[in-house]
Amino acid sequence: MRFGIHTMDDFSLKGKTVLVRVDMNQPVDHETGTLKNTNRIAACVPTILELMEKGAKIVLMAHQGSDIEYHNFYTTEPHAKVLSEMLDCPIGFVDDVCGPAARQAIRSLEDGQVLLLDNVRFVSEEQTLFEKALKLDHDAQAKTLLVRKLAPLADVFVCDAFAAAHRDQPSICAFPKVLPSAMGRLFEKEYCILSELLEEPEQPCVFVLGGAKVQDAFLMLKTVLKKGAVHKVLTGGLVANILLWAAGAEIGQKSRAFISDNGYAGLVETGKELLAKFADKIMLPQDVAAKEGETRAEYSIGEIPSDCGILDIGSVTSQKYKNEIENAATVFVNGPMGVFEDAQMCLGTESIWKALADTKAFTVVGGGDSVTAASRFGVKEQIGYICTGGGAMIRFLTGEELPAVAALREAAQKNP
Ligand code: ADP
Ligand code: MG
Repeated sequence: MRFGIHTMDDFSLKGKTVLVRVDMNQPVDHETGTLKNTNRIAACVPTILELMEKGAKIVLMAHQGSDIEYHNFYTTEPHAKVLSEMLDCPIGFVDDVCGPAARQAIRSLEDGQVLLLDNVRFVSEEQTLFEKALKLDHDAQAKTLLVRKLAPLADVFVCDAFAAAHRDQPSICAFPKVLPSAMGRLFEKEYCILSELLEEPEQPCVFVLGGAKVQDAFLMLKTVLKKGAVHKVLTGGLVANILLWAAGAEIGQKSRAFISDNGYAGLVETGKELLAKFADKIMLPQDVAAKEGETRAEYSIGEIPSDCGILDIGSVTSQKYKNEIENAATVFVNGPMGVFEDAQMCLGTESIWKALADTKAFTVVGGGDSVTAASRFGVKEQIGYICTGGGAMIRFLTGEELPAVAALREAAQKNP
């Protein structure tokens, strides 16, 4: 038991059918039907390997999204192939989620064998639209098809999908209602690292916050600043644009339109409140970059043209941020400093990410795009810990209990 949740040490697993929820959601190359990245699959390996060694019959449930949010229709078949290469043994796959074919495949498993079911979001009750529209509680989720069909075949449920822990869906939150349940090793590790970051990071602790998921980013900022455990927050991306606007700086018509069109104008007020309370902690860019025709132009704050669209932090800011990172003991990073996908607008992110590689501080990077940037700039191996979660990680750091954690904790209380 750890954090009030059972671990895989708490159950005898030999010969048991163990239903494991993993998060292997990766970007897909639709032309070739292959996965563009496999880091999340690799992160699932320790739990699966341990279950194999313990002689469990292992049933993996996973989802795979598409490029467009809420269109989740892509098979997990390529994942089985990748996983079997990583584990160097055959991994069963069935193109069914909880129908007769899936159930038959589960019943035929032998000790130590692994079966991956097809995309759980092929079942309507697992879809994000269903989650958001109906908001079923966990008891109601336990009556959905997936749970009614699969739970009777399993002895234990293991949740290893930390990256999906902020989702309130049956495959994550309902099995703990009806089965003895534990968190997997990856879940345990991510929980542990992030709760240390939230509670007692080694000081000075610096947060690097950029990217475009501003709603959760602002909530998280509020929590960590209130807790007082953060020395400095270095801002970039859309987060910085909103804070600059809140600080009364001219950020240009295109920047303002981008913020308003995405429904984030309300956050300018939140930004003002944060700046009023924590001005000494929050660092804003002193200069920024935008496109002038096809080339990169940098402007100091105060000299930004009125039609500007800010797409990166400037070089003076990069240098300042690098000094903070160099002198920190802990650095947490989520969200790139600019539109790093663009060859001209990647400079800010590139120089900060290189500083992460060079610092002696313990560095934690999370978020799909942030990790992609670490690969692109060749610093991934030098990062202290790469978190598989993006949304889940930020939500965790807002201090709010994640649905998966609530479900696992309740299961442990019921069944100590
Ligand atoms: P992560 O995936 O690491 O959690 P996000 O998804 O929150 O990060 O943000 C990444 C996206 O933010 C990238 O696609 C990047 O192009 C975009 N972005 C960064 N800076 C800006 C900016 N100034 N304006 C608009 N988009 C930005
Ligand atoms: Mg992203």
